[in-house]
Amino acid sequence: MIDPSDVAICVGPDDPAPSAGSGPMSVPVYRTSLFGFPTFEALMEGLSAEHRHSVYTRGRNPTVGAAERKLAALEHGEACLCFGSGMAAISAVMLGLLEAGDRILFVNQVYGPTLELAEHLHRFGIEHDVVLEAAPAAVERALRPDTRLLWLESPGTMLFRLADVAAVAALARSHDLITCMDNSWATPLFQKPLDAGIDLVVHSASKYLGGHSDVMAGAVVGTAETLERLFYRSYLLNGGILAPSEAWLLLRGLKTLPARMRQHEADGLRVAEFLREHPAVRAVHHPAFAREPSAAEAGLRGCSGLFSFELGHGGLDAVTAVIDRLKRFRIGVSWGGTESLVISPHRPGNDAELESRGLAPGLIRLSVGLEGADVLIEDLAAALDDGR
Ligand SMILES: *Cc1c(COP(=O)(O)O)cnc(C)c1O
Repeated sequence: MIDPSDVAICVGPDDPAPSAGSGPMSVPVYRTSLFGFPTFEALMEGLSAEHRHSVYTRGRNPTVGAAERKLAALEHGEACLCFGSGMAAISAVMLGLLEAGDRILFVNQVYGPTLELAEHLHRFGIEHDVVLEAAPAAVERALRPDTRLLWLESPGTMLFRLADVAAVAALARSHDLITCMDNSWATPLFQKPLDAGIDLVVHSASKYLGGHSDVMAGAVVGTAETLERLFYRSYLLNGGILAPSEAWLLLRGLKTLPARMRQHEADGLRVAEFLREHPAVRAVHHPAFAREPSAAEAGLRGCSGLFSFELGHGGLDAVTAVIDRLKRFRIGVSWGGTESLVISPHRPGNDAELESRGLAPGLIRLSVGLEGADVLIEDLAAALDDGR
């Protein structure tokens, strides 16, 4: 069930209603790089608190601000900063909050490029550890004296394993760690990490939040104090901002988020249930089927349309054959748009790497779009049956 107050935020006007007179439903695109001031004194005042005043679009811009207000409200956070991509948001958190000598602990299966970025941070004296499961006891064993930031994905990438988010957040708090959770899979409609005690949420808004495969965007949500720190330590100076026109597309996408997520959830479940019964399929990794914790115990209010399954037999050849036989699923990276997508983490010669990440050789990932479950099931049935 999606919270009606979240629906109201999504479908409502971009700007708070004006007290008198008429107002636009959709915020204008403030396509300007700078803002002119009536006096030099007023400019100096703006520059003294650039996180609050529109001075230059690398800092504050009203269209971007409207998207940030909506995302902060949806995540139950005090403040939000939007970025030009999810990776810009993720790097702003790491570069803005960590010092040389700090360690990051990555919990559960984490998005590949996030881990790759952490590899590069070695050059700046920031180290990291990875724990592929999220049970609090395993997380506690992986902590070290210099661990400063706990980075969590739930459901995890590729296998969609769940963490008890509140338990991990409480453990991290008892060790004085900063916690950051990537909530791109669930969106704030299905999971609110800040309510579970997590400090910061990051999003790739290029996925469900934008929702139409036509915008790259990212976001960080948290307390006003932490976001102000990020504004001056990484947002303003790294310059990875969301352009006003892209912020407008993100706002446009948010208006249909509840309707889209309801259909992604229902159709994703039907496709997953079909696959679970299919004799050519060994396992389906969908959070709705999870135990210990179950989706409800983990804090999920619903499921999106991204999940994976394993072929019972064969590796790269079998995976390639099934993917190439699909007609409705487009073959491509990313997810969260209207079109259904298929991909596999398999590459020639990467069996050992897959094994080290706990991934089976027959793994295929689906992003269920909005075509309707019946045509997708028919497509999968034909692709799986042809190969047997
Ligand atoms: C895509 C993705 C990102 C990165 O976002 P971009 O917008 O592509 O930079 C981060 N986390 C997850 C879970 C993702 O799927």
